[in-house]
Amino acid sequence: MNSKIYSRIYTLLILTLVSAGLFAQSQYSESTKKAVLVIHGGAGTILKENMSPEKEAELIETMGNALMKGYKIIKKGKSSEEAIIAAINHLEDDPNFNAGKGAVLNEEGNVELDASIMNGKDLQAGAIAGVHGIKNPINAARAVKDHSKHVLLSGEGAEKFARSEKLKFEEPEYFITDKAKASWLKAKKNSESSGYLNLPVEDHKFGTVGAVALDKDGNISAGTSTGGMMMKKYGRIGDSPLIGSGTYADNSTAGVSCTGHGEFFIRYAVAYDLVALMKYKEMSINEAADEIIQNKLMKAGGAGGLIALDKDGNFAFSFNTPGMYRGVIFDDATMLIDFYKE
Ligand code: ASP
Repeated sequence: MNSKIYSRIYTLLILTLVSAGLFAQSQYSESTKKAVLVIHGGAGTILKENMSPEKEAELIETMGNALMKGYKIIKKGKSSEEAIIAAINHLEDDPNFNAGKGAVLNEEGNVELDASIMNGKDLQAGAIAGVHGIKNPINAARAVKDHSKHVLLSGEGAEKFARSEKLKFEEPEYFITDKAKASWLKAKKNSESSGYLNLPVEDHKFGTVGAVALDKDGNISAGTSTGGMMMKKYGRIGDSPLIGSGTYADNSTAGVSCTGHGEFFIRYAVAYDLVALMKYKEMSINEAADEIIQNKLMKAGGAGGLIALDKDGNFAFSFNTPGMYRGVIFDDATMLIDFYKE
């Protein structure tokens, strides 16, 4: 059976099961199967009652295709890094998510993109922040890791570097969707100097994308790509391009990608905290994820979530918002995709 048909069958199956509410968090976190790739498309006010069946099907399909792209790479024996790049590129190119095409607009009505990637084998990492025009920011983050002496490049310097790497650029119109523009106009009208927290509740979606994969050699890679938070100040940088805050990977424990109110994720060093809790307190991946998201961040008032995958193929999805777009694919090609809390 060709893989396109395969993934469509899975998509339909999953859609049916999601609609029937069969994937409650507790059920899939107890799975005994080995996960090879987990992805997210952001956390926030994602409620079933606000979602049309058509939009739900569209999102499930795109997340299913992202998982399948990464899965095929892992199955061929290629690296976890290649798998997460394929999955993240798929989501960056999809205007439904706040990364690449479809990214949110800053206070001035422009798209500014952030991304980071980390390799759990040698702890090499790369990131870019506050860039314009780079079609797939995660590819630029990887280029920083592989072809520069640095970890993080920002703004025009990062763009110049991406051009020297022959990465693809697009005009502003490519990134700015009608939906992003409409949300921005609404937010601007609601409160001229609002900032994120005064946005209408239906716009409380983070929409960042991320992936963590485990390959046949036991290497874990994690990556995150985002447009940041709507109405952010020009020049604001969130957690997503910061290694240890939005992204982390260490083969001895786990890889993690975060989404949420970045200022909290920076202050609580969320991505590294997950690894540290596993390493030094010997917590399981689910215990560590919940300790940070449901305990520490909840107490602090930090909204968001994370996805994580450990060296043995155990995974965690934890979020303290009404929903988080999330998916996992196991080594037998079965996948779970879910958006809501219950
Ligand atoms: N964490 C991102 C930021 O603060 C936003 C998101 O997850 O969507 O920039």
